[in-house]
Amino acid sequence: MNIHEYQGKEILKKYGVTVPLGKVAFTVDEAVEAAKELNSPVTVVKAQIHAGGRGKAGGVKVAKSLDEVRTYAGEILGKVLVTHQTGPEGKEVKRLLIEQGCNIKKEFYVGVVVDRATGRVVMMASEEGGTEIEEVAAKTPEKIYKEVIDPAVGLMPFQARKLAFAINIPSELVNKAVKFMMGLYNAFVEKDCSIAEINPLVVTEEGDVMALDAKLNFDSNALFRHKDILELRDLDEEDPKEIEASKFDLSYIALDGNIGCMVNGAGLAMATMDIIKFYGGEPANFLDVGGGATTEKVTEAFKIILADEKVKGIFVNIFGGIMRCDVIASGVVEAAKQVGLDRPLVVRLEGTNVELGKKILKESGLNIVSAESMADGAEKIVQLVK
Ligand code: ADP
Ligand code: MG
Repeated sequence: MNIHEYQGKEILKKYGVTVPLGKVAFTVDEAVEAAKELNSPVTVVKAQIHAGGRGKAGGVKVAKSLDEVRTYAGEILGKVLVTHQTGPEGKEVKRLLIEQGCNIKKEFYVGVVVDRATGRVVMMASEEGGTEIEEVAAKTPEKIYKEVIDPAVGLMPFQARKLAFAINIPSELVNKAVKFMMGLYNAFVEKDCSIAEINPLVVTEEGDVMALDAKLNFDSNALFRHKDILELRDLDEEDPKEIEASKFDLSYIALDGNIGCMVNGAGLAMATMDIIKFYGGEPANFLDVGGGATTEKVTEAFKIILADEKVKGIFVNIFGGIMRCDVIASGVVEAAKQVGLDRPLVVRLEGTNVELGKKILKESGLNIVSAESMADGAEKIVQLVK
């Protein structure tokens, strides 16, 4: 799960990470009011969307008076920002962060991620702050320094110092940078983050070390123990299909292709997407209905796929283990009855109660193409959507 920058900064503050003073605003008047309260010679008006690259897209503006705050807030609120992370359709801005302007001396990058190669948490730092770190990684990977963290002891102060020196934090500010990194790491671990990225971390003319941006992502599987984080969820920022799916406890991720997939088991779902691609098609989603799905759950899953206008055909690929094939078949028939089936449907069923499942589909009178194997099914649906 993702949260907004202003929410991330609130969390980091509690861990001793210095952030500029700021306040969220939902209207232009609230923005001006917040700026009055801050009473800072320079105020920054920042679009709050779940995507980076706002600065370049005109979503971060520096205001030198309350009038300018009013103008910029009016411009940015309601605007559809298109950044390299939003996709071409962009995202509408519904909230602003009104923040104290900082006297930036230099911008740096610090990020905490889970590194799959080492199976550990890694802190990365770079002197190339403010720019896209992906670009730095691609063009000048030697400018990114990493410390692998032992989970038994956590980030050690010497590791933080090593990073601070490596990225040339002025020596008199190294202690502040170390405190910053330790706080960031503690927040990451205690809140079960999957990413904690500060780009830029800045050193100011006044000698402060601050987070000017904050991107925190959380491991969804750990949210049950973080009710406070769950409250920060902003449904406006999420795909409506994914919200609907989460209500029914379905693992669903919307993708860009046109073949809707209904599968049980994450491994089979991945394999199904692979084989669709192998035959030249593009999956419209990842969907795992899970092991113990009921007919209702399958019905909802099928309805979510059908509600997606990009979907030109559907591939149901089920291996009935714990999941019974007749439950899947009943769910498909029920959903088709409720919303109508107006697109080609290929079904491959195998495993528990497969004969009964096939019988239910056959007797439903629906126009279903049955497949003998996964490869057969993938090939057929790719042909049908062409
Ligand atoms: P994004 O990464 O989405 O573009 P940032 O929060 O990183 O958004 O802001 C972009 C740039 O705007 C920063 O690199 C920094 O130079 C400037 N900036 C952001 N917040 C402030 C602030 N409070 N004071 C001064 N400059 C800021
Ligand atoms: Mg940034």
